[in-house]
Amino acid sequence: MVDLCKEFSYFLNKLFPINRSLAGKGNRETLSILKEIIPLRILEFPSGKKVYDWTIPKEWNVKEAWIKNSQGKKIIDFSISNIHLVSHSVSIHRKLFLNELLSHLHFLENKPEAIPYKTSFYSNDWGFCLSYNDFIQNFNSNEEYEVFIDCEFIEGSMSIGEFTIKGRSEKEILISTYICHPSMANDNLSGILVTAFVARELHKIQHQLEHSYRIVFAPETIGAITYCAHNENFIKKIDNALIVSTCGGSGKFGYKGSWADNSSINQMVEEVFRRNNIDFIAYPFDVHGSDERQYSSQAFRINCVTISKDRYYEYDFYHTHLDNLEFVKPENLFQSFRIYLELISDLDRNLFYSNLNPHCEVMLSKHGLYPKSGGSIFPGKETSELDIILWCLFFMDGRTSLFEISKKIGVSLDMVFKTAKNLEEKGIIARL
Ligand code: ZN
Repeated sequence: MVDLCKEFSYFLNKLFPINRSLAGKGNRETLSILKEIIPLRILEFPSGKKVYDWTIPKEWNVKEAWIKNSQGKKIIDFSISNIHLVSHSVSIHRKLFLNELLSHLHFLENKPEAIPYKTSFYSNDWGFCLSYNDFIQNFNSNEEYEVFIDCEFIEGSMSIGEFTIKGRSEKEILISTYICHPSMANDNLSGILVTAFVARELHKIQHQLEHSYRIVFAPETIGAITYCAHNENFIKKIDNALIVSTCGGSGKFGYKGSWADNSSINQMVEEVFRRNNIDFIAYPFDVHGSDERQYSSQAFRINCVTISKDRYYEYDFYHTHLDNLEFVKPENLFQSFRIYLELISDLDRNLFYSNLNPHCEVMLSKHGLYPKSGGSIFPGKETSELDIILWCLFFMDGRTSLFEISKKIGVSLDMVFKTAKNLEEKGIIARL
């Protein structure tokens, strides 16, 4: 744990200052740094290209942005914090009085210390964000201010990181996180790093994995849409996904469930929390949130869950500069990393099998699965190995998953999985 926390700390510090957005140098730099953790591929999608109902944006690269007061002193400066500049601001160089400037200044009167995070992704606007305290201290109505934003919008490309891990079957589980937020640690450096380290773990145990994994690092919304548009056939075959976001706070664990209330993945997350004695908040599915909005849309309908620790929308520092490295600690990332891995271990083993002898019972003694002295065997109170075999063969119809069987007969997924592997080896059942 200590070594992993050191790694989390190293990458938190390295990635935190980078100015990420929908497309541009910051995203590319972020993905290149992640290559130190996993050998991901950086895919480039050209600006201006249509993807479903959307268009891939231009790259946005900032050179300089500030406001000076009438004495020429910089009172807001992008180089101090990239959150000061509204993301996707257009260039401007003008002198303005406060009455003209005010609609371009963003602060939170109810959180006077905090610099809010704002975007103008799909409008040609510009603006600065500052704390309400700084606004009161530095701005007054009689003064003229010099505003300077020097940034470029170029016809380049939007970068998406992709990492695939081949397991025993082609059936994939999707793990997706978003890379478009600038200097905020929980939203979403936590998600980026937990995803990358989970991917590294899965890569290490690749030969033991029952499923294959598709891991995506994309700008939120437009990135996920672009990825779906370019991988439609793969995405349509996926049943389960993890959308990794805001999992590094010091507060409570929670999870946002799949759009299908009764899906196994929801029950599996809850079971992982209970097994670890973790008190959690269950957030039902709703149409707001992160990239489950795309992956669960009508054409895909993937069961997505997000495990959070101080979930987006909910914590005090959400979308402000106070979502920083004081708030997000490596130990918090480590806890989420562990929980995600435990969930993935269950998901990975949740397989579907068919009994190859659906007509009446299998003759277990022929396969060495029945005790030699059979006459005195009565159903006991405890579920015996034989009971598990009988129940598995009874339920394995190709539509009932191992997790569902484990629930029906009240034994662990682990035991049902081991039984299934044994029956599979003996050629009595076949995996779908
Ligand atoms: Zn956000």
